[in-house]
Amino acid sequence: MSQEFDVVIIGGGPGGYVAAIKAAQLNLKTACIEERGSLGGTCLNVGCIPSKALLQSSHKYEEAQHLQEHGVEVSGVKLNLKQMMERKTKVVDTLTKGIEGLFTKNKVTYFKGHGSFLTPNKINVTGADGKSEEISAKNVIIATGSDVMPLPGIAIDEKQIVSSTGALDLTKVPAKLVVIGGGYIGLEMGSVWSRLGSEVTVIEYADSIVPAMDSDISKEFKKILEKQGLKFKLGTKVTSAKAGKSGVDLVLTPASGEGQEKLKADIVLVSVGRKPNTSGLGLDKIGLTTDERGRIPINDDFSTSVKNVYAIGDVVRGAMLAHKAEEEGIACVEIIAGQHGHVNYDAIPGVVYTYPEVAAVGKTEDELKKAGVEYNVGKYPFLANSRARTNGDTNGFVKILADKKTDQILGAHIIGANAGELIQEIVLGMEFKAASEDIARTSHAHPGLSEAVKEAALATFFKPINM
Ligand code: FAD
Repeated sequence: MSQEFDVVIIGGGPGGYVAAIKAAQLNLKTACIEERGSLGGTCLNVGCIPSKALLQSSHKYEEAQHLQEHGVEVSGVKLNLKQMMERKTKVVDTLTKGIEGLFTKNKVTYFKGHGSFLTPNKINVTGADGKSEEISAKNVIIATGSDVMPLPGIAIDEKQIVSSTGALDLTKVPAKLVVIGGGYIGLEMGSVWSRLGSEVTVIEYADSIVPAMDSDISKEFKKILEKQGLKFKLGTKVTSAKAGKSGVDLVLTPASGEGQEKLKADIVLVSVGRKPNTSGLGLDKIGLTTDERGRIPINDDFSTSVKNVYAIGDVVRGAMLAHKAEEEGIACVEIIAGQHGHVNYDAIPGVVYTYPEVAAVGKTEDELKKAGVEYNVGKYPFLANSRARTNGDTNGFVKILADKKTDQILGAHIIGANAGELIQEIVLGMEFKAASEDIARTSHAHPGLSEAVKEAALATFFKPINM
């Protein structure tokens, strides 16, 4: 007799593991299948967490060399890359094992293996030892996430031509690193290796870095990163990258036309995006097809075209972000349990964890213009914020966009130290349909970076005080 569950979740990433815990909390008999050997998915194992560990460590290394302004003389700062990598691994291990503990605590059955459909409610699980077992489920949630998007004609060997996974594990600082793709992963990993001593060149097909970002922010971001030493080739595509004994030879052409340029690198990072992962899932066995981008089509309640089969996270439409996957996991399980799960896609923040950080929520100014929405815009620079001055973190600004008639906040964009934390007040405000005046009339502790958010809100509906 196969084991029977109310909910079986395939994939133990942020979408899957959070859905599993929530389902168990709602008294549903729950199982989660994960083939990686550890829980937490891309995010904890090869994504958000190891990249942030390296960003933090490399930032400290960089900072330690530039403390003179604060009257702190430091000499003999040395990089111990092995120790830095070991720390990163320890952080990852602690967090992934923590999820196993949460599964035990919440009575989620954890199957270590590859899950594939036999029928819509029968799943085959094949363990690393090749042994298979069959389990049954009243409901199945597909949370199989995403994988590295390859670039046609460029073979990733994870040695000289690496994906983000390889870039998190280099054993030596490359003298020259070429990053293909100026999105958030490329810029974060480029920043890490630049701080550790690499000469970093970012090649981006579009005319701006992180093209979906508000263009004011994107321009400022590029300027700041250039000052830090990163080089950019925008409007450029890589047509070939060949690894050899003396490094990698790249050929570049302008996105818009003729001509060729050659470039040499020790390591090339391919970070042109991620693709939904449905490989070996047996979707054909249940008659489920993916869309033109390989995603599983879903309805608003996360149901697929097959009864009692749901999908969430990177494998479906929308931003490929851990917290978006988590929100979907919770809402999906609530709906399965007969409750009213809901995700507000207008209030999902996105953060680039470079230094300074860049954070955004809601619409960009370009999007509002295109949609013909009338808006007010308020901006406030960190240069005018007293805490930013005391900290020596004066780069960047806060920009808030609000509806011209109602003053409801439609979007916010921050570039500056701690932007990733500062944005959260606006995210909460947007959840409650706040006006910029609501933020402006909220008391903000002084001296704080969040006062720049308050001043930007003041500037949105009337005038800032401290400028
Ligand atoms: P995943 O995390 O991809 O998890 C899916 C899991 O399913 C995987 O563990 C996989 O092994 C398993 N699986 C797949 N198929 C099967 C099968 N058939 N049987 C069993 N198991 C299976 N997002 C952020 O929000 N913030 C960040 O700072 C951030 N940084 C990132 C940095 C990097 C370098 C990368 C690569 C990504 C980053 N992301 C970040 C994106 C984030 O990791 C993803 O959006 C998130 O992990 C998606 O969660 P998920 O649960 O949908 O899928």
